[in-house]
Amino acid sequence: MSFPYDAPVSQTLFDRASLVTPGGVNSPVRAFRAVGGTPRFMVSGTGPYLTDADGREYVDLVCSWGPMILGHSHPEVIAAVQEAVVRGTSFGTPGEGEVALAEEIVARIEPVEQVRLVSSGTEATMSAIRLARGFTGRAKVVKFAGCYHGHVDALLAAAGSGVATFGLPDTPGVTGAQAGDTIVLPYNDLEAVRTAFAAHPGEIACVITEASPGNMGVVPPLDGFNAGLKEICSANGALYISDEVMTGFRTSKAGWFGVDGVRPDLMTFGKVMGGGFPAAAFGGRADVMAHLAPVGPVYQAGTLSGNPVATAAGLAQLRLLDDAAYAKLDAVSTEIRALVSEAFTKEGVAHTVSAASNMFSVFFTDRPVRNYEGAKKQEAFRFTAFFHSMLAQGVYLPPSAFESWFVSTAHDAQAVERIAAALPAAARAASEATA
Ligand code: PLP
Repeated sequence: MSFPYDAPVSQTLFDRASLVTPGGVNSPVRAFRAVGGTPRFMVSGTGPYLTDADGREYVDLVCSWGPMILGHSHPEVIAAVQEAVVRGTSFGTPGEGEVALAEEIVARIEPVEQVRLVSSGTEATMSAIRLARGFTGRAKVVKFAGCYHGHVDALLAAAGSGVATFGLPDTPGVTGAQAGDTIVLPYNDLEAVRTAFAAHPGEIACVITEASPGNMGVVPPLDGFNAGLKEICSANGALYISDEVMTGFRTSKAGWFGVDGVRPDLMTFGKVMGGGFPAAAFGGRADVMAHLAPVGPVYQAGTLSGNPVATAAGLAQLRLLDDAAYAKLDAVSTEIRALVSEAFTKEGVAHTVSAASNMFSVFFTDRPVRNYEGAKKQEAFRFTAFFHSMLAQGVYLPPSAFESWFVSTAHDAQAVERIAAALPAAARAASEATA
């Protein structure tokens, strides 16, 4: 595919970045490798819009991969940050802001009796796994192919290939020992989970799953899947860890727990709770959390954990996320999904718009997608053409067919209109694309 060279300033920045940073980016998917072309360097964001270094404006359907649920530069979040920042940026001591944020999380999510703040989703899942191992005295961890839990060594054995099934490392740098206690199973398959527990009696510390996966595209749990996981864990003395880094405070006021009501033993959070700053958390049963230092023996720490500016931003954002905000997110998500589906149907493009609350993504297949194997069978080459047409028309989508799209409460009628105007040509590009 050839790309119109219409982002000269971004291209210059990318060339500069590539000299000093591997691949020119600080997180791989930003490099546009899956779709090709020049990654857009963004300089500002307001409401549902981003502006790039070439001065072009885009309707943003990435929202920083989830955190910007109120849109960019929300005045009340910015005010909270400004108020916090002038008082100092880090103290390395306890502070009231982190107490207030922890109280907000505990108040919203009933199974979370205690919570520990960290700085990234990766840290949250890494710490939750360590705690589960420390609590149970067991080593093995069950995870699901296609679920992403950050770049934790033990959790990168994941990409669904045959070798991953046997816990072999997916990436150089992760040793067999680090991945050897990880059992990777197909998503939405309770029988596989029962079989794994039967094969490793008394050895499995925990099952970790995305509460509703968004990292293989959006693939919601089948009815009863999460409840079944909880039941199997409880029956076998293992902990059920629900990773809500993506779904937490997004899919409802109480995240995915607010949707399916299944009580995890431990949960992880990130993205929305940081209000665009590095703040994340893990929490759950008080008797399990009591195993953490300084109360218990499981060590975990962080120089910037509970950072006053990050907690101020997160708290301001969470306090604005009331029932009306979630109703707005659901409405705008439903509207965009309908427009997307209508455009593809008109062009005869086989597709499935898969949604979990206000998160959604498009699979280029009309077969239902229930796991990573199913997700990989889509005609992903159509996404590339679709993505570039949308980008050229001023709509910024995630640069991969295997990522969720995110909306914000700032996506108003005007933003939706711009998306609607771009869709027909993009759907045509998808229909004309060849592998
Ligand atoms: N868990 C899930 C479900 C995620 O989606 C992500 C990131 O996308 C992570 C964990 C890792 O979070 P972070 O990128 O903040 O380390």
